[in-house]
Amino acid sequence: MSSELTHISPKIVDTPTDEKMIEDAYRDLLDGYLASNHRKKVDIINRAFKFAKEAHKGVRRRSGEPYIMHPIAVAKIVSQEIGLGSTSICAALLHDVVEDTDYTVEDIESQFGKKIASLVEGLTKISGGIFGDKASVQAENFRKLLLTMADDIRVILIKMADRLHNMRTLGSMLPSKQIKISGETFYIYAPLAHRLGLFNIKTELEDLSFKYEHPEAYKNIQEKIAATAAQREHIFEKFAAPIKERLTALGLNFDMKARVKSIYSIWNKMETKHIPFEEVYDLYAARIIFDCDNEADEKRWCWNIYSEITNLYKLHPERTRDWVSTPKVNGYRALHLTVMGNDGNWIEVQIRSKRMNELAERGFAAHWKYKIGEGEEESELAVWLKTIQDILSNPEPDAMDFLDTIKLNLFSREIVVFTPKGELITLPSNATVLDFAFNLHTYLGTHCIAGKVNHKLVPLSHKLKSGDQVEVLTSKSQQPQPEWIDFLNTAKGKIQLRAALRKDKRQIILAGKKQFLEFLANHDIPYSNEVLTKICGVKQMKSPDDLYAAIANGEIELTDNLVETAKRSWQKRLLSKVLRNPFSTKKDTSSMADSKIATPHTPINTKEEYVLHTIDGKDNYIVAECCKPIPGDNVIGYIDDDNNVIVHKLNCPEAMKLKSGFGNRIVTTRWENVTAKFMATINIRGIDRMGMLQEIIQVISQALSINIRQLNMGAENGVFDGKLEIIVEDTNEVTQLCKKLLKLDGVKVANRID
Ligand code: MN
Repeated sequence: MSSELTHISPKIVDTPTDEKMIEDAYRDLLDGYLASNHRKKVDIINRAFKFAKEAHKGVRRRSGEPYIMHPIAVAKIVSQEIGLGSTSICAALLHDVVEDTDYTVEDIESQFGKKIASLVEGLTKISGGIFGDKASVQAENFRKLLLTMADDIRVILIKMADRLHNMRTLGSMLPSKQIKISGETFYIYAPLAHRLGLFNIKTELEDLSFKYEHPEAYKNIQEKIAATAAQREHIFEKFAAPIKERLTALGLNFDMKARVKSIYSIWNKMETKHIPFEEVYDLYAARIIFDCDNEADEKRWCWNIYSEITNLYKLHPERTRDWVSTPKVNGYRALHLTVMGNDGNWIEVQIRSKRMNELAERGFAAHWKYKIGEGEEESELAVWLKTIQDILSNPEPDAMDFLDTIKLNLFSREIVVFTPKGELITLPSNATVLDFAFNLHTYLGTHCIAGKVNHKLVPLSHKLKSGDQVEVLTSKSQQPQPEWIDFLNTAKGKIQLRAALRKDKRQIILAGKKQFLEFLANHDIPYSNEVLTKICGVKQMKSPDDLYAAIANGEIELTDNLVETAKRSWQKRLLSKVLRNPFSTKKDTSSMADSKIATPHTPINTKEEYVLHTIDGKDNYIVAECCKPIPGDNVIGYIDDDNNVIVHKLNCPEAMKLKSGFGNRIVTTRWENVTAKFMATINIRGIDRMGMLQEIIQVISQALSINIRQLNMGAENGVFDGKLEIIVEDTNEVTQLCKKLLKLDGVKVANRID
């Protein structure tokens, strides 16, 4: 990240004004640290500061500030906003030294010891942005980031602080950089901050990203919040007064304030609900933070306050959230309720102790602060990191899938369900019985036949709710099915199912191939591509693998009929060898073809134009595998041994060969009333950018509602190249689609290929 923001200017000696600014900023950092609960290791921090200042000497940021102002600011966020101690402060001060100066990790280690050096190394490794120049590298970097994170969570927390400061100072960057950096902040850092429970940082990152991506909307909402402040304050005071009175009477020390939603979340609400600013009724929430010395009393106090409020105001029956008894996975604890205010509007009230509030704002960093030396059991964070490690140790073959998988985990909200033994399992909110099964064990997932939710029998696809007690029913004979992917909403489940299917499918294909080869050998038919292609064609199989799988599954029987087909194809191969012989004349070859190959049915009259159509859902033609023509293409028909009309493109090399070799089997054709859908392949290439894939898919599936059968995309050096297999009616549809794709910013090539 740093290299992007560093503005290497000629070495200029820092001016006295600069010196003063640097001293003040550093003093501020130290004061904050000294006021915290951490042990006072000022000495090493001083040394780290001097080292970093010397290393970055004469270098300025784009804003014109001396470079060292950035590490100081990052260290300050690390200390005062996240709550970390001296080791992290030192690592933050030194975080850009290895990347931007001549010093090495070894230098850092000899000066500051192993721990700080390894943090700086971790930070250096993951720099350059989660998104490098290449799409595949994006995912790889992300994976690296998470792996490092699993080593020491402080790396990611410092990285988060680095990103936050860069976002706060993004104004001095070029607009093109602003958009790119905002995009990746929104896409990766904000959700990660959320997952780590860094609520304040998450909100600020979202708001800052939004500000640079939608400056107009941002300004608009900001102004409206300011304009309505006085009125809002008035309503809130009237609402809060009786509550404050009661809580004071209980002898409670507390603070009650109105918290306006973030600009981004207001905008999000306006967008999703299609409402103007004025109609966002839950523009703010009330927050009560109370003092409580004894952790054991916190829960009781939360509910006491709850009952005082519900005595005063009407409670919304469905909006009480008890995150005191069962905290969120990211560590969030609070009691939320919604009541009706005097003005008839619902208002949310959040009740937290001071300790809970700190957890909510600083996340797990604060958690440590309270848990130091207690020999704590495996925390929920550790559980989450374990999940990430599971995913990392079994990565998808496609790196992009991996990124999506991680995103799936980051964005989902959780439910909590129970095993029959009462064990608590946290899952995303749309998790199914099958997700639950895979979450417990791969065996349970792959052999799952149904579930029992609260003792009632339910299918695999049943969606779970918080509080459900879930039992998995399995059967030894159960096999994982490809359709199950639709029932899975957890990353872990999807990965495990795919892995099981891959293993399964490979074995089935191999078994089928073995049967097929034995069958050929038993009938003295030499194995060749021609034989294979012919049988695939007759059985309407798209690929040899499909054929083998169908044989193994018993969907295709290896009958005598098939022997005939295979033999004919093999003979034809011998024949075509003869055909290619320059000494034989054309006349000879066609007569040979006629005499050697028997035509079982009345031949189609090749003099007449053959109309390609669909009758009773059946097509009177077969699309050639080699060139895969679709309606709208210029085509010719070739009448095969079984009197089927195989349709080829006019310019297909295979068709030309047939034309010259079997002229009397060629028939001119015309498409008419064809209701079938066809597969077409499109090549698309262009300049890679954020959101490109998303937009392409949107154009295809939403704007034109075309089905995508397969999508292969790769990117290298900022250029992406992809193949799309789509299901269409005719060439016209393909042309329309390519036109639309070419209109997308960055798309340079979009055309149909064979
Ligand atoms: Mn930095």
